[in-house]
Amino acid sequence: MPDTAPDTWQARAAAASFYGFTDLPTVKARGTVVVTHGEGPYVIDTGGRRYLDANSGLWNMVAGFDHPGLAEAAKAQYDRLPGYHAFFGRMSDQTVRLSERLVEVSPFDRGRVFYTNSGSEANDTALKMLWFLARAEGTPERRKILTRVNAYHGVTVAASSMTGKPYNALFGLPLPGFIHLTCPHYWREARAGETETAFTARMAAELEDVIAREGAETIAGFFAEPVMGAGGVIPPSAGYFQAIQPILKRHGIPLIADEVICGFGRTGAVWGCDTYDFAPDAIISSKALTAGYFPMGAVILGPALADRLQAAVEEVEEFPHGFTASGHPVGCAIALKAIDVILNEGLLDNVRALTPRFEAGLARLAEHPNIGEWRGKGLMGALEAVADKATKTPFPAELSVSERIANACTDQGLICRPLGQSVVLCPPFILTEDQTDEMFDKLERALTGVFDGLSG
Ligand SMILES: *Cc1c(COP(=O)(O)O)cnc(C)c1O
Repeated sequence: MPDTAPDTWQARAAAASFYGFTDLPTVKARGTVVVTHGEGPYVIDTGGRRYLDANSGLWNMVAGFDHPGLAEAAKAQYDRLPGYHAFFGRMSDQTVRLSERLVEVSPFDRGRVFYTNSGSEANDTALKMLWFLARAEGTPERRKILTRVNAYHGVTVAASSMTGKPYNALFGLPLPGFIHLTCPHYWREARAGETETAFTARMAAELEDVIAREGAETIAGFFAEPVMGAGGVIPPSAGYFQAIQPILKRHGIPLIADEVICGFGRTGAVWGCDTYDFAPDAIISSKALTAGYFPMGAVILGPALADRLQAAVEEVEEFPHGFTASGHPVGCAIALKAIDVILNEGLLDNVRALTPRFEAGLARLAEHPNIGEWRGKGLMGALEAVADKATKTPFPAELSVSERIANACTDQGLICRPLGQSVVLCPPFILTEDQTDEMFDKLERALTGVFDGLSG
C-alpha cells in the first residue's frame, strides 16, 4: 500500500525529489522505497521490509552493503587525508598506489590512468582524449564516434550521444557525428534462417560499410561494452569482437572497452575483454571499481594510446582537463581495498563458483511459455518476456510487462530491474547458494503471478 499521509517518507520523497530513470506512474501508485541500511546482499527500508537486492544497487555493490573492510579503509583514509586533488603536479599517495595497481591488473603490460567521478565522465574523458589527440596529430577531422544501438555509456552530453537508446531523442541527442551500428543480439536481430556465424559476419560487414561511407580518417574511436548492460544484458554474438577488431585495427580506429559493468569480475574474469578474448586500446572502469562505496571512474590507457597522448600533451605542456575530485584519496583507498576484496578475498572465485547455479536458475525460468530468451554471462543475466514464444512477439508496450514483474518482485522482497521487456539480475558477488535459490524462487512466484494475470 502506498504510504501517502503527508508526513511519511514516501510523501516527503515525492515532494522534494526530482526523480531520474523512474517510472512516475509506478512511484505514484506504490510510493518510493526509502532504504535506510543494508546487510550483505539485502537492503532494509523505512517500513522495516527486507529486500534481496538482485541488482547490487546499480550493478556496483558487489561486496554487499556492510563489508567491514571497505568501511575501515574509508575511515582510515578519512582520518589521515580526507580529500585532495590531482592538479598542478600534486596528488595523494593513494592515487599513485591505485594507478599502479590498475595498470597491474589491467590487460596492458604498461599504461596510464586518469580519474573521474563516474562512468559517464570517464567516457567523456576518453572522448576528449581522442579529440585532443586528433588535433595534436594533425588530423582534426577525426571526430566521429562509433557505438551500437542499445549501448549504454552514461548520461553526460557526450556519453548520452554514445548511448544507443531512443529516450535520448527527448533531449535532441545524439550530437552529430555519433554513429550507432546494429546491436549484435543474435536472438533479436538475426534474419530468418541466418546462422550465428553469418550474423556476426553481417555485423562486421556493416562496420566495413560504415567506415567506407564515413571515411576512416573521420572516425576517432569505437566504444563498446563487452556485454551490453543497461541495454538488456546482451552478450555479443559468437566471434563478434574477433570479427570487428581486425577491421578497426586496419583503419587505425581505437577500440575503447567500456568495462563499467563488466570490469572487476562480473563476467567471471577480471575484465569482459578477457572473457571475450579481445585486446582493447583503453578501458573505462567504474561501478565495481570501488564496490559502490565511493563515486569514481577511471580511464585506463593501454601503452600505444598512452604514449601517443603523452607525446601530444608534451607539445602543449598540459592536458587541460580534470575534475575537482579526480583521484580522491578516499575513493582511491576504497578502490585499492575493493580490488583486493574482489581478486584476493574470494569474490571473483564466488562469481565463478556460483555461475552454473545462476545459469541453471535462468534456464529453468526460461522454460515458461512467456519467456522468449534467457541470456547472460557470469553473474549478469536477463529474462525477456514475450507474448508468443515461437514468433518472439513482445507484449504490447502499454501492458508494461517488465514493470509489472519488477513490482511483483518488490512485493516478494526481491529487487530486480525492468529493462525493456526484460528483467535483469546482477546480484552481489557475495551471494550464497541459498540466497541464489531464494532469488529464483521469488522471481518465479512473481513471474507466474504476472503471466497468469495477463492470460486470465
Ligand atoms: C553505468 C554505466 C555508465 C555510466 O556510469 P555513471 O557512473 O552512471 O555515470 C557507463 N557505461 C556503462 C557500461 C555503464 O553501465
